[in-house]
Amino acid sequence: MSEDPFVSVDEIVAARRTIAGAIRHTPVEPSASLSGRTGVPVTLKLEHHQHSGSFKFRGATNAVLSLTPAERAAGVVGVSTGNHGRGLARAAAAAGVRCVIAMSELVPANKVAAIRGEGADVLIGGRSQDEAQQAVDRLVAEGMTMIPPFDDRRVIAGQGTLGLEMLEDMPAVDTVVVPLSGGGLISGVAAALKARKSGIRVVGVSMERGAAMHASLAAGRPVEVRELPTLADSLGGGIGLGNRHTFVMVRALVDDVVLLTEAEIALGIHHCYWQERQIVEGSGAVGVAALLAGKIALEGPTMLLLSGGNIDMALHHRVVSGETVDVADEAA
Ligand SMILES: *Cc1c(COP(=O)(O)O)cnc(C)c1O
Repeated sequence: MSEDPFVSVDEIVAARRTIAGAIRHTPVEPSASLSGRTGVPVTLKLEHHQHSGSFKFRGATNAVLSLTPAERAAGVVGVSTGNHGRGLARAAAAAGVRCVIAMSELVPANKVAAIRGEGADVLIGGRSQDEAQQAVDRLVAEGMTMIPPFDDRRVIAGQGTLGLEMLEDMPAVDTVVVPLSGGGLISGVAAALKARKSGIRVVGVSMERGAAMHASLAAGRPVEVRELPTLADSLGGGIGLGNRHTFVMVRALVDDVVLLTEAEIALGIHHCYWQERQIVEGSGAVGVAALLAGKIALEGPTMLLLSGGNIDMALHHRVVSGETVDVADEAA
């Protein structure tokens, strides 16, 4: 029997019960400036105020709290230097479950410290992400449970709880704008919204530099893209050539995917700070950026999901000061 790749709204409702005591129901805030500019009511969902600084905490918490007692005792493992690592580390620590986050030795010390600060053990697994993956495979062979960043039913269901919240926060919402990388977030959010409100539109936003889901949709199957430095660093990485859930869910449920330049993303971060008084990372600001760039057709009440706030504060300072920042030049 082959499993249905679609995560259902029932799974999302169940996830909401599971994680209710652990997560924040994050606030929403109407944006006077974006509403004035666009002529439709625009509301921001402030999910960058979630524990660990991003929505990844929701999916990770659902995954951790869904473990069997034996799996709990053996602990969880993930590969991530970013928000998935932070979210999983925090979720596991809150549940009293051992967590190992694997990364390559090329990862900067501040990122290692951030993950350790969330209470995880960091496993420096070699010179590349591939070698880090091999280290994870050994831990899984020894009994630990691998928690993937997006292509996993329990992770998608956890992220989908945001869709239920957003509709309660703004019942009149007509268009929802969601940052898109591997698609766990938008798959869950769109599954929840579309089950609960017919005609609602869900728009994904990625960066031009390395938009793996966008390229995969165009190709009709999961494809790899070259990963490039971007201000939206949490949106980097592939969707997995063996993708099980998010490719078909995004293809079926997402109405449009728009791509942004680095300059447009910078303007999004800048606007969030000066107009909305919010410190948002590039990946979290892409919805605002897409609206400012005029890349989203607006029909009615619109909600933008600010998905994360974990930006290096020195970089943030430069962007909001109006400096032209090209992270590709700096990585070179
Ligand atoms: C992971 C992440 C995304 C993208 O989520 P996917 O489920 O991979 O599409 C967007 N914004 C932030 C801040 C993230 O950490």
